[in-house]
Amino acid sequence: MGKTALITGASSGIGEAVARKLAAAGYNLVITARRSGRLQKLSDELEEKYGIKVHALGFDIRERIQTESAIEALPAHFRAIDVLINNAGLASGLEPIDEGDPLDWDKMIDTNVKGLLYITRVVSRMMIERGQGGLIVNIGSVAGSQTYADGAVYCASKHAVHALSEGMRIDLLKHGIKVSEVRPGMVETEFSVVRFHGDRQRADKVYEGVKPLSAEDIADVIGWIVSLPPHVNVNDILVMPTQQA
Ligand code: NDP
Repeated sequence: MGKTALITGASSGIGEAVARKLAAAGYNLVITARRSGRLQKLSDELEEKYGIKVHALGFDIRERIQTESAIEALPAHFRAIDVLINNAGLASGLEPIDEGDPLDWDKMIDTNVKGLLYITRVVSRMMIERGQGGLIVNIGSVAGSQTYADGAVYCASKHAVHALSEGMRIDLLKHGIKVSEVRPGMVETEFSVVRFHGDRQRADKVYEGVKPLSAEDIADVIGWIVSLPPHVNVNDILVMPTQQA
């Protein structure tokens, strides 16, 4: 039986690209997101193409009990998780703080920060119990070290991911569990469409004058991190489009 990776937010963008990358490297996968139909389609495709086993789990990462129950109920052969990719996340809205919608703030903080914590708690405990170490890769952002106009809450959520990544790394190293943070600049995915609540025209404007990264560019970096030997850890890596200031 090969190694197993659990990827959150695998129904699109970076998460889907990482699923393809790790499937090609022979990993069995647990893929999660809310859009179960998309996960099932990806699962069928990857199982057929690579002869691996894929388990698709549809749940909302903001719901702690649902998240924990879904992971705890995994079939035995998917419970030996070697790699956790904490990727599920979003930006919702781009407004100055006095015009921001508290419902957008809840979405960003509950998904990007609390959801990441919920899943990390349950998976890291499984890794510790198994006693064979592991690797956790958190998808942060350049917004974890910069703050830009009208994006205070998203930036704050990714600053939190940055602090959590370092804290997790220190707490888990005694168990042989490595923690890496991958911090992309602009990546062309559904991210912008979600940020502007489905306004595709506004979303497309974001990429004017800059060739953005592709989800596959980030998956390549993660594929490299996953391939490193146990004594080598990439704590934090910032990956930017060449033209992004
Ligand atoms: P996408 O919108 O394409 O993907 C986001 C993924 O997160 C989807 O699979 C979505 O699945 C999942 N997700 C969102 N909310 C929830 C939830 N409540 N419960 C479970 N899953 C959820 O965008 P990206 O691929 O670009 O984003 C992936 C990560 O990369 C995010 O953490 C984002 O902050 C980060 N990032 C993106 C950048 C960019 O420019 N694109 C730049 C820097 C960082 P579903 O809707 O099916 O639940």
